[in-house]
Amino acid sequence: MVWVPGVDEVPMSVLAFHGRSEAGVVIKKGGPVSTALWEKKAGDKFWVRGPYGHPFSVGHHHKLLVVGGGTGLVPLISWLLNESKDHHFKLVFATDDGTYGEKNQVPKVVDHVLKEGTFDAIYTCGPEPMMKLVYDLAMQKRCHIQVSLERVFKCGIGICAACVIGPYLVCHDGPVFSERELSGMPEFGKTRRDLSGKRVPLGAGH
Ligand SMILES: Cc1cc2nc3c(=O)[nH]c(=O)nc-3n(C[C@H](O)[C@H](O)[C@H](O)COP(=O)(O)OP(=O)(O)OC[C@H]3O[C@@H](n4cnc5c(N)ncnc54)[C@H](O)[C@@H]3O)c2cc1C
Repeated sequence: MVWVPGVDEVPMSVLAFHGRSEAGVVIKKGGPVSTALWEKKAGDKFWVRGPYGHPFSVGHHHKLLVVGGGTGLVPLISWLLNESKDHHFKLVFATDDGTYGEKNQVPKVVDHVLKEGTFDAIYTCGPEPMMKLVYDLAMQKRCHIQVSLERVFKCGIGICAACVIGPYLVCHDGPVFSERELSGMPEFGKTRRDLSGKRVPLGAGH
């Protein structure tokens, strides 16, 4: 949880690597907190508490398809470089407008990759509509999947229930959930709760 005094506190992924004393956040400039962070200069301060929740867990999965979109790439890069750095990677870049990598939507790339090979599991973090399509593909292929969800976090430690989805609190029980947990979340890919706790369609504003 990243707090800019006088502005607000929001959840952020942390970029941190084993054996390195520095850590970072990668910010998509949008509203008040991300803009305040964006405008910080060397020597300025902000506050961080955490880390909280449960990360991706490798278990017995060896061949992984890791699918990121937007700032969802941040925890995946951190996780890949810390946990899988001795493994071989094949990277595929795609952008909707073709300005980097292939011109394609991520779920279509995933569909193509899944037709070409088999994987023990898929790990994904990014926009929820993207993750829902990737989840549906994983279910069709009977492939394990772990999905990192984004919701409104207020306390970040499982007390306030602002991030409730199905029987779970995303900040405490997640943000990473398995296909078994996701199957008990009818809201996944459809609705979320706004800042007042009201359930709204996924694409609606705060
Ligand atoms: C697990 C997780 C990891 C994230 N990692 C990153 C990251 O690495 N980089 C990044 O740029 N963004 C990340 N986000 C998203 C980031 O928390 C939101 O985009 C946040 O809204 C940014 O706040 P803002 O004030 O800039 O903008 P706006 O989205 O315009 O929000 C306006 C205000 O609404 C409230 N608000 C909005 N969303 C949330 C929220 N999810 N929780 C609590 N309050 C909220 C805050 O008061 C905020 O100031 C992450 C979110 C989650 C749940």
